[in-house]
Amino acid sequence: MMDNEKTLTPKLIKKLWFAFILLIVLMGASYIFITGYLTLNYNQAITQRINSNVAEHVIQEKFQNEAPFLEDGSVNKKLFGDLMHDMMAVNRGIEVYLLNKSGDILYSVVLEHNDNEPMKSVSLEPIKDYIATNGQEFILGDDPLNPDEQNIFSAAPFSIDGHEGYIYIIVAGKQLALISDNLFSSYFTKLSIGAILLTMLFAALIGILSIWFLTKNLRLITQTVRKFQEGDLDIRIENPEQSDIEVVALSFNKMADTIVDNMDKMKSVDNLRRELIANVSHDLRTPLAVLKGYIETLQIKKDSLTENQKEEYLQITHDNIDKLSGLINQLFEYSKLEAEQVTPIKEPFSITELSHDLIAKFKLLAEQKQIHLQLDNPEENYMVYADIGLVERALQNLIENAIKYTEPKGKVTLSLIKMGKQIEINITDTGSGIPINDQPFIFDRYKQVDKTTQKRGLGLGLAIVKKIMDLHDTTIVVLSKPYEGSSFIFKLPAYQLQ
Ligand code: ADP
Repeated sequence: MMDNEKTLTPKLIKKLWFAFILLIVLMGASYIFITGYLTLNYNQAITQRINSNVAEHVIQEKFQNEAPFLEDGSVNKKLFGDLMHDMMAVNRGIEVYLLNKSGDILYSVVLEHNDNEPMKSVSLEPIKDYIATNGQEFILGDDPLNPDEQNIFSAAPFSIDGHEGYIYIIVAGKQLALISDNLFSSYFTKLSIGAILLTMLFAALIGILSIWFLTKNLRLITQTVRKFQEGDLDIRIENPEQSDIEVVALSFNKMADTIVDNMDKMKSVDNLRRELIANVSHDLRTPLAVLKGYIETLQIKKDSLTENQKEEYLQITHDNIDKLSGLINQLFEYSKLEAEQVTPIKEPFSITELSHDLIAKFKLLAEQKQIHLQLDNPEENYMVYADIGLVERALQNLIENAIKYTEPKGKVTLSLIKMGKQIEINITDTGSGIPINDQPFIFDRYKQVDKTTQKRGLGLGLAIVKKIMDLHDTTIVVLSKPYEGSSFIFKLPAYQLQ
């Protein structure tokens, strides 16, 4: 299927490409700009360096035999006229200026004029810097013909007949600048096009590769998610730590686990409900049938029954109603615990006092069965930190079971022992005991060792105890030998009085 192979949205690819092209254009532009700027400076620096001694040369050559100033102090125009001839032959772009020592222009030899108003003086700072560095540094100075621009120059000081000043020569005059601009722009255009093409080619190659690598993990994740969506609940992203998008991969795996867990939980709740309905209908049917039978007898034989018989029948109905409501309560309690609707409210209380109360409560029942029910070590007062209602419920179920599964003349003992920061609670009987093979399962719901006996209840008693232990982060263990008896042991945190 085509649809299955399409693992990434075209939108994402488009965005990635857009970002990439933008990057290439920006790179190209900055490349051109930087190259352009540096090349211009480079050209100027070379021209300046080549012409570095031109000014010095003029002084040495021209001022050796003839002074630049006449006796009346005016400029020797003839000397500079010669200079102009020399320049015309060599380079028309050169401009020579005679400066006094404060930078004022005393005379100029310029072949190529322009429309600008020439400057009357130039800044001495670059000239002094230039002389100080011996013409070896790239320095720009004022261009008298173009007051807005800076240009490369050559300069040298002179001191003749009490006249001090500088010969200041602009070496790249207008024409030179024009030629270099023309040449430069043609080279530069070629360079730019070449550079852009190369950059784009490399960038596109790198782009394709990196988009492929970048989206590789994404494709894998999308494929896995799709398979999961199609019902393959066991599928997970392999080696999520190695994925480039580790967080997404790990989160997906965790999310899938949670979904599967929740589905399992829902399934088990569903099974429980089904089991419950089956068990409940079975367990409730017996007392209901008994009830129905006796009530019908009472109705039909109302007149022929003796008072004693009527009393007996009513007692039986009463007992069965008790049994029924007991079963229903147990069911209700268990389903609440199972649905995790019960939050323990822990508080300090005396487990000794609670045990005394329970012994008193079950005394009568035990006596009826000729069972000796007792509390060991009754003087010590032990405090625990737990939910009193839930602990009472657990103890009640355990004592009830102990009495239920112990024969007449037997013994049921509840003992409390302090063990460090915990109190151990032990309910021991001398009853029928539990076969070793069954011991691991008696805390499961509906698990009854002997289904044939009359003693059986719903099989929820120990399951409720187990849930209560879970809520207190503790465990219960059973030690039992068939025909000798059983011990149920658990621990609760002791409450330390400060
Ligand atoms: P029931 O309602 O059947 O008593 P429980 O969950 O309370 O269900 O107990 C599960 C099973 O564990 C019982 O059916 C019984 O076989 C066994 N059992 C529990 N307590 C004792 C005990 N003190 N002595 C012997 N067997 C016990």
